[in-house]
Amino acid sequence: MIIVVHGGAAKCNEQLIALKLAGVKRAVKEGYDSLANGSTALDAVERAVSCMENDPIMNCGYGSSLTDAGTVECDAIIMDGQTLKSGAVAGVQHILHPISLSRAVMDRSDHCLFIGSGAEQFAQEVGIELVTNESLIHEFAQKRLKEYKTFARTIDDDKPENQVIESESPKEHDTVGSVAIDQYGNCAVATSTGGITGKRVGRVGDSPIIGAGGYADNSCGAVSTTGHGEAIMRTCLSRHIMYELISSVSLQDAVDKSLQMMAKRVDGYGGAIAVAPNQKPGIGFTTPMMSWAYIDSNDSQQCIHYGIRVDEHLTQNF
Ligand code: ASP
Repeated sequence: MIIVVHGGAAKCNEQLIALKLAGVKRAVKEGYDSLANGSTALDAVERAVSCMENDPIMNCGYGSSLTDAGTVECDAIIMDGQTLKSGAVAGVQHILHPISLSRAVMDRSDHCLFIGSGAEQFAQEVGIELVTNESLIHEFAQKRLKEYKTFARTIDDDKPENQVIESESPKEHDTVGSVAIDQYGNCAVATSTGGITGKRVGRVGDSPIIGAGGYADNSCGAVSTTGHGEAIMRTCLSRHIMYELISSVSLQDAVDKSLQMMAKRVDGYGGAIAVAPNQKPGIGFTTPMMSWAYIDSNDSQQCIHYGIRVDEHLTQNF
């Protein structure tokens, strides 16, 4: 069994790094506890992501990034590697846990993706509560919008030439995700986001798109991505990583090569986490930072592995 989470490709100031790391460690622990209790990979990734949707430091659920109109519009996806079933929602404005609504789309509808008001109508039908848009807004997200003002500035900030970290506010991007393999050998992915600060109302990113924001297939593995959504969509980044694995020496190599391809082909930056049978997890990013954590039952140390900076790999007992 293994579970990996990410708290988004981002750059944060020192003060926020501690909060980000605490958030990913809490989420991975929750997900791992459910795997250890016999839950499926699908339940574990939903649980881990749901935990981060409650955390205002993360850009998803409560604390999501804001549109150029100052509102919250969330996207999410969940996918089951055993059946290739998937559920997703886009542009939802009144849902605290878009990942659980995605799960309901997968389990309780004939469809893969619902948007906006149709998604929220479906939520009511399956008993998921609607909340006010204001209740999803946190002051960090408001500060980010004030600082960046436009989508283009947010995107620019993640380019390698702009990697100085000087601001007080939490930075972009911060989509969350989780991938896991359970004791039954099944893999799954969950990804959830508020999108990119200053995005236009109605813009949908990569996160709810199969093969871009996430992909899971027992025959190859599971991936969750984060970063510049338009670039990730154009390169089908999650699916690309799985494809690249066929000719790579390791899953890590496949993640690194795919992220380099995205930078080269479409000048896009971001990160990914991946698991595959008989492989160490693949964790990579071309942005200045990406918070991540994993727990692997085959690990003789029995600890949480985590990090946020380039080449950082820390451990902590649990
Ligand atoms: N990929 C997300 C989007 O473009 C943003 C992120 O990863 O933070 O909506």
